[in-house]
Amino acid sequence: MYRPIRALIDCTALQHNLSVVRNHTHQARIMAVVKADAYGHGLLRTAQALNTVDGFAVLELEAAIQLREAGFKQPVLLLEGFFSAEELGMIDHYRLSTVIHSHEQLSLLLAHKKTGKPDLFIKINTGMNRLGFKSEEGNYVLNRIKQWCSDANTTLMTHFSCADDARQTDQVNQQLDLFAPLYAKRENNLPQTLANSAAILRYPGTHADWVRPGIILYGASPLPDKTGIELGLRPVMTLTSEIIAVQQLDPSDRVGYGGQFIADQPMRIGVVAAGYADGYPRHAPTGTPVLVNGQRTRLIGCISMDMLTIDLSGIGGVGVGSPVTLWGEGLPVEEIAKSAQTISYELLTARSSRVPSIYIYT
Ligand SMILES: *Cc1c(COP(=O)(O)O)cnc(C)c1O
Repeated sequence: MYRPIRALIDCTALQHNLSVVRNHTHQARIMAVVKADAYGHGLLRTAQALNTVDGFAVLELEAAIQLREAGFKQPVLLLEGFFSAEELGMIDHYRLSTVIHSHEQLSLLLAHKKTGKPDLFIKINTGMNRLGFKSEEGNYVLNRIKQWCSDANTTLMTHFSCADDARQTDQVNQQLDLFAPLYAKRENNLPQTLANSAAILRYPGTHADWVRPGIILYGASPLPDKTGIELGLRPVMTLTSEIIAVQQLDPSDRVGYGGQFIADQPMRIGVVAAGYADGYPRHAPTGTPVLVNGQRTRLIGCISMDMLTIDLSGIGGVGVGSPVTLWGEGLPVEEIAKSAQTISYELLTARSSRVPSIYIYT
């Protein structure tokens, strides 16, 4: 079956966004975060477009191995580390870098027969309270690792919980206050990594040795009050489809499941091949913006599994086959996220596998 829905992935935009990160960071090395299939953009094609970065970060061991097998030579960091001795063996075999965030992982590591030169990122929990050692445990962990392998590369790592929010600079400063004494104390001055996309933009003082940009590489904003475009970024994913049917409504005709939208005058509507099974958010309400043939209009009624409906009132020259942009070029994904009460990260990563990707250079 032919369905016209596509995700156009603009590799030139990826490279442009990387250059924006470079302009912000100067000295720091860049570890491109490509977890969750590169935020839904396709792991290997994204990594190819970003091949000049200094490292990649993923969550999934399979993704790290895929990067190695595809020939990428940079450090590849596992952001949650490993869950078994077997996985540690894979980390050795594929020369992967790994986070160590818990005593369980430390025990597995110390019981592991080391080969080569391990590359370890010691994650300190400074206030996110998800993963990491308490900062006062940091020296103990570093000493145990040093006893186990004196020439292991160790990097200190933490992650901010509120770097995006201008009203929460106190929280960022508290996290820095917990992190700072740990590396200050070390006689051997370990490299550090702290900054995600939001901190790259808002806290240049946290760039340190490695930055870890995710969402900005994909052209969306990590900040609630700015779009990617306003930050000089270019959208990478454009979700497009077409009108597959047109209906002429009479006043008081209702549209879709639940009949939620009721026409108050005669109107034309378009039915678009895109639904929640494609990853379009089901909670997007009537009024959510959409482009048809480059002209802005609005969603009406309820999103179905495979289709959604849009208002064609006052839009000339469109009909079955007209192109529709759901987000991306000309329609920031942040706008759709806001309308559907979610964030761009969720929309980008939720695109379903039945929507093919088309890679383009612009
Ligand atoms: C996902 C992730 C990032 C990237 O976050 P963005 O907000 O997309 O820049 C950085 N560091 C860690 C530990 C992450 O899990």
